[in-house]
Amino acid sequence: MDLIVVMKSSAAGDDVHRVVDRVSELGMKPHISKGEYRTIVGAIGEKTPQAQEQLEQLPGVDQVMSISEPYRLASREFHEADTILDIKGIRIGGPHVNIIAGPCAIESRDVLFDVGQAVKDAGAAILRGGAYKPRSSPYSFSGMGREGLELLKEAGEHLGMPTITEVMDPRDVEAVYDYADIFQVGARNMHNFNLLLEVGKTDKPVFIKRGIAASVTELLMSAEYVLSQGNHRVMLCERGIRTFAEETRYTLDVSAIPVIQGRSHLPVFIDPSHAAGKRDLVPPLTLAGIAVGAAGAIVEVHSCPDRALCDGPQAVLPKNFVRLMEQIRQIADIVGHRVTQWGEGSHPADPLGK
Ligand code: PEP
Ligand code: MN
Repeated sequence: MDLIVVMKSSAAGDDVHRVVDRVSELGMKPHISKGEYRTIVGAIGEKTPQAQEQLEQLPGVDQVMSISEPYRLASREFHEADTILDIKGIRIGGPHVNIIAGPCAIESRDVLFDVGQAVKDAGAAILRGGAYKPRSSPYSFSGMGREGLELLKEAGEHLGMPTITEVMDPRDVEAVYDYADIFQVGARNMHNFNLLLEVGKTDKPVFIKRGIAASVTELLMSAEYVLSQGNHRVMLCERGIRTFAEETRYTLDVSAIPVIQGRSHLPVFIDPSHAAGKRDLVPPLTLAGIAVGAAGAIVEVHSCPDRALCDGPQAVLPKNFVRLMEQIRQIADIVGHRVTQWGEGSHPADPLGK
């Protein structure tokens, strides 16, 4: 049975060497993973009965645990309480419900600012918009790139909203870091392990979407890649999986929300837009996600969907989004959760008063 040795953030290099040497002496293979904030030493192989106790006593060691699951830092065993992230004053996870909304892609200044203002007025907490779009066809609009990132940053600052945008390539992590508040790792890149490692080396929150053919365990292992690098600000998202059902673009696996919450302390969101593929289905699927306890939803909204360059058919009109937000508040209330509300000024008032 493998062990994992979590070093204290204050541990010195010598402390880590001592752990590595002792792991080898105990007949196990050491594996160091250095994060920005702390180092983790994996001890791979059959452990002796005293190994855990001995390693625990070494200087600089915070915790030593047996690995019973293929993921560890993401598990409830490792961290029993719900993780609550703070992103620019907005609390995410636990009883807090946050709605992320905006256009699928950043297409123009006008659309982004119009939709941004509309979703903020309706009560969305975070602004979405893709500058790098993973498209099934290489001939489809693939996003505005750096220019889009600049617009997103400008819109976020103008509205006082944190922003989220997709990063597809490890080489873009540095640029996206400068422009957005949350990295989105899309469904197609959930298995891009180099990308996960790269965002794991930063201190920005990472929102990982479940792959269309990925199990919940695989999603948690993707989270583990980020966590293993020392970045603990991870959120997960169920966005529909591929099944035989043809009436929707994908099948929203609503059960994944409570299943993941049972196994992990990380906040889990729902994406009704990509699952449905049709705007009429977006409100009921959003409400289903909130009803089963999701930490929020990511919803595509567009002021003129028939002119959208990406995912127009699933974009909700701003006026319908207003109604949806009202229903979200009611459902959240029933399950004992509360939707983040915009208070006076640009900061959201914490409805729980914590
Ligand atoms: C998106 O959020 O616009 C997107 C492309 O999502 P997914 O990765 O879930 O397909
Ligand atoms: Mn989209």
